[in-house]
Amino acid sequence: MSSPLRVAVAGAGVFGLASALSLARAGAVVTVHDPGLDQSNASAVAAGMLAPLSEALTDPTVAPHLDLLMAAQDLWSDFAATHGLELDRSGAVLVGDDARRSALSAAAAELGVSLPAADTAAAPALAGKGARGWGGLRVPGDWRADAADLRLLIQAAQGLGVTLVSEPLRPGEQDLLVVATGASRDFLDAAPELAALTPIRGHILRYGALDYQGPVLRGPGAYAAPSRHGLLVGATMEVGEGREGVDLEVAAGLAVQAEAVFPGLIGRAWTAAAGVRAATPDGLPLVGLSANPGVILACGARRNGWLLAPLVGAMVAALALGEAPGPWAARLNPRRFAT
Ligand SMILES: Cc1cc2nc3c(=O)[nH]c(=O)nc-3n(C[C@H](O)[C@H](O)[C@H](O)COP(=O)(O)OP(=O)(O)OC[C@H]3O[C@@H](n4cnc5c(N)ncnc54)[C@H](O)[C@@H]3O)c2cc1C
Repeated sequence: MSSPLRVAVAGAGVFGLASALSLARAGAVVTVHDPGLDQSNASAVAAGMLAPLSEALTDPTVAPHLDLLMAAQDLWSDFAATHGLELDRSGAVLVGDDARRSALSAAAAELGVSLPAADTAAAPALAGKGARGWGGLRVPGDWRADAADLRLLIQAAQGLGVTLVSEPLRPGEQDLLVVATGASRDFLDAAPELAALTPIRGHILRYGALDYQGPVLRGPGAYAAPSRHGLLVGATMEVGEGREGVDLEVAAGLAVQAEAVFPGLIGRAWTAAAGVRAATPDGLPLVGLSANPGVILACGARRNGWLLAPLVGAMVAALALGEAPGPWAARLNPRRFAT
């Protein structure tokens, strides 16, 4: 009888955990290493939006990949049910003035989608009186997870026998290494493909006293999303900024920008958090075999790490077992930026 595959996963963000869960379910002996286990990573501060269409309509970088984003979302119902995560299916409303709504409607039509008008009065605490003249377009297919449920993924992994440790990884103790270290370049020698990553810091604000339930509201330059711990308002895209931690000046700038979109926020108290996303030039992550044998990459999720996690986890497990990684492998090939 052959002994089970021993896999070390570096990184306990949503990519590392989704990979560990799929690997453990496939029978591998998995250890997740993360020196920052008790700190907040990008996964923990995210808004948790699982929003293929809104992302394709508002982020030109990922617009060509709507099919992939939708395929990733398709895996979420099972993933959430299996690991006990709640899925909010309230959808999203793209808010803005006539010009913005026309542009979004036209972009949606090009994708073969029609966006019905939405009643923004459904969010009076946010709309405030300054929002008069604005309107909304409904995106019913957007979903949302709660980033606080990262801990449920940790518990689920532990329940499947995955060991989580804060000690650094010792090479040679595993058959396979999965690099899921977000924006970090610590494993550049083991996985030279990480050179394609650019850090993009993101600040997000939490209005703890605002208990908004309903669709995510996405305006120009700011969104407002419900969460279990208050309203989340995000997010900055600080390209090239890899420093961790909150910069209060940047956070205050986001608050001003958000108040212009959602006047109901004016005068409300907020706290800020920040995380560093990792991004590739085409907006898609690096998922697949490194040029270095025995190394699999799972990083570079940009704005869609939560959305993509179940897909990435499944691909990592398939690759580890020597199985076909599925239809998205070429697009996510980590070696696609090699010179
Ligand atoms: C403000 C904000 C809002 C966001 N909103 C959304 C959203 O609504 N929807 C969505 O889908 N995505 C969202 N994202 C993006 C999403 O959070 C990221 O794409 C995703 O969390 C990346 O997950 P990851 O596991 O690759 O990286 P991370 O979550 O960064 O985890 C990487 C882990 O690797 C660990 N690590 C680093 N170096 C080492 C090492 N040498 N050894 C071991 N471990 C190491 C770190 O400690 C960290 O825990 C948002 C991001 C931000 C910042």
